[in-house]
This record gives sequence, structure tokens and C-alpha cells, in this order.
Amino acid sequence: MAVPLMQQARVGAYLLKQRLKGVERYPLVLMLEPLFRCNLACPGCGKIDYSEAILNKRLSVHDCLEAVDQCGAPVVSIPGGEPLIHKEIVEIVEGIVARKKFVYLCTNALLLEKNLHKFKPSVYLTFSVHLDGLGEAHDKAVAQKGTFDRAVSAIRAAKKAGFRVNVNCTVFNNMSSDEAIEFFDFCTNDLQVEGITVSPGYAYERAEDQGHFLTRETTKNLFRDILRAGKGRKWRFSQSSLFLDFLAGNQEYKCTPWGNPTRNVFGWQKPCYLLSEGYAKSFKELMETVEWNKYGTGAYEKCADCMVHCGYEPTAVSDTFAHPLKALGVWLRGPRTDGPMAPEIALDKQRPAQYVFEDVVKRASETVGGTNDNRSDAA
Ligand code: SF4
Ligand code: SF4
Repeated sequence: MAVPLMQQARVGAYLLKQRLKGVERYPLVLMLEPLFRCNLACPGCGKIDYSEAILNKRLSVHDCLEAVDQCGAPVVSIPGGEPLIHKEIVEIVEGIVARKKFVYLCTNALLLEKNLHKFKPSVYLTFSVHLDGLGEAHDKAVAQKGTFDRAVSAIRAAKKAGFRVNVNCTVFNNMSSDEAIEFFDFCTNDLQVEGITVSPGYAYERAEDQGHFLTRETTKNLFRDILRAGKGRKWRFSQSSLFLDFLAGNQEYKCTPWGNPTRNVFGWQKPCYLLSEGYAKSFKELMETVEWNKYGTGAYEKCADCMVHCGYEPTAVSDTFAHPLKALGVWLRGPRTDGPMAPEIALDKQRPAQYVFEDVVKRASETVGGTNDNRSDAA
């Protein structure tokens, strides 16, 4: 099962509690980035373009667990950078699991096999392995030969050792629907991973390769092709049926940028996991100081083509909760893959993009200090 029943029940109970308490904005998944350093340099990545001093910074175990406690979300995703480079990643994971939160440790898997013995299999822990296609397609996406074979070997070893494994796939415009279909079949039937997370890539302004990001229209058409072919193939996506229905162009959703709040070495990132337009010192400050209505498709130019799961899955989950029969229908029949699409949000009133990254990072770097005092990680 892509998401364990216990996790579904806990998340459902959490959502119900927030609604009964009348909380307007609440997080669903904490995105905890304990470092930006990575052992790959994928051309579509927008997370590693920092100075050496910043790449050498780490969140401590204390910082990470404090973020988990402040945020209170039932699920914690640990992306990066590459979390397995962090020398205290085992303690961080153990501390989160001890709090009965569901951890998704996102990894390119280059260091997974040799570090597996340090972790304990648990329903609370899932390794979410970055794979962007089969063989050469993945190696090309991550700009390093042999990466696919190492990741596949690590997935098989993790499965054999009793761990839950998810494949995390980012789709760019150079993946055809046929390639996607073959890839999802491989993940399901050969690797037999518990789940697949799929999302179009966000057009990071700092990514080296700006030529392969999908527009909203191409995303919707590609996913219609993929999901049409997927009917009856038993792919196990980790996302809600309504998020897949959104990718297929059948839902007119606005994003929920506070749904996946992000804590990294600079602080709490404003406004979301994808945009870096300022930092707050605490989760409370983040929630209280972001002008949320200034962001989202139709409100801000940088959001125009975004359909990424960290912004829209919380919207889909909330919609599932509000309209369970609609969600059940999509779950039973699968997303609709023909006919008219839901109306697109108009862009004529969006405010222009603000290119504030350099200033924001300069200020944030001064706050956290530019030199590294915590570098001795495993590799
Ligand atoms: S593996 Fe992930 S964090 Fe590392 S460079 Fe690639 S996309 Fe970025
Ligand atoms: S649309 Fe929402 S989730 Fe996407 S970049 Fe904009 S604020 Fe972030």
C-alpha cells in the first residue's frame, strides 16, 4: 500500500482536529532540509546553488526536532541536498520516529546501501528514492552515469532488509508518456516499491537547465496520456486521487503554500518549499508574517506554471476531506483523461516576479554566519 493505513488514519484524525478547532491554515507535511550539500548536481535542481560556506552548513539534531515540534505536521519529509551526507541523520530520523511522525527520507540513494544498517525498518520510515526514469534517462537527468544502477541496487537492498521504499519522480518535458509508462511499470512490477510520488518539476530560476520545465498545459496533456495508459496497471501513487485528477486537468485548484512549510539552514522559508523570498525565525512567525494572498497561480508570475505536489497536494487532501464522495469516485474510476479540462486560472492580474534571491540569501547568510563549523560528514 502506497500510504499505510495507520498513516492515513493519523493524517485523517489530524485534519479533523484542525477543522474542529477552526484552524484556517495548518501544515500537512514539514519539509525539513537539514543541509543543501549534495553529491549530485542535477541540472534541474534549484536547491544547491549556494556558496561553499552555506553548502557546509547543517541543521543540528536539536534544530530539526525543534522544527518538528513547532510545526506539528503529522508527516515529515527530509529532502536536501542529500540527507545521507548529514553525519547526524540517523539521530534526526530516530528523534522524529520517536515522536510517531511519518518520515520520508528523500535520497538519490548513492549512499543508501552502505548506510542501511544504521536505520531500523518501521512503518514510520520510508526511503523516498529520487529516480527520474529508466537507465540512461535517469543518469542524464542527474548528470552522472551509473546512478540509476546504484539507486536500483540500493532500492532492492532496502526492500530486502524490510524497509518501506517510495520512488520520487520529477517529470520534465523530455519524458514521453511511453517512457513514463514503462518506468512506472518497472517501479511497480520489478522493484515492487510501496509507492510512487510523481510531480512536474518547478521552474527554479536558479536551475542550470531552464529548457525542460513543463507548462501547465503540457503537464495536463502529458498526465492525461500517462494516466489513460495506466488504467488497470495497478500503479501505486503515494498521492491522493484528487491530486492526480488535478494533474490531468480536471480540478481548478489554488495552491496551499503553508501546507508543506520548509525549515532549512536559513530558517523557515517564505512562502513555500519552491520559492525563497525571505525567512522567518519560527514556524509561528512564518504563518503570521507571509502575505499568503500575494502567492499562487494568478497572483504571482513565478507561480504561473506551478502544479507541484508540495503546493497542491494539501489542497487536494483538503478537498478530499470536504468532498469524500467526489474523491471516492475518482479513486474508483481513476482521473478522467478525456473531455474538457477545468477552466484555467487567469493570469492577467498576477504581480510581476520579484528577483530577490541574491538579497534574501545574502541577508540570511549573514544571520546564520558564512563559515562552516560542522563539517565532517559520512560519504
Ligand atoms: S539529487 Fe536532489 S538535491 Fe541533489 S542535485 Fe539532484 S535534485 Fe538536487
Ligand atoms: S504556486 Fe504556490 S506552491 Fe507553487 S511556487 Fe507559487 S506559492 Fe509556491
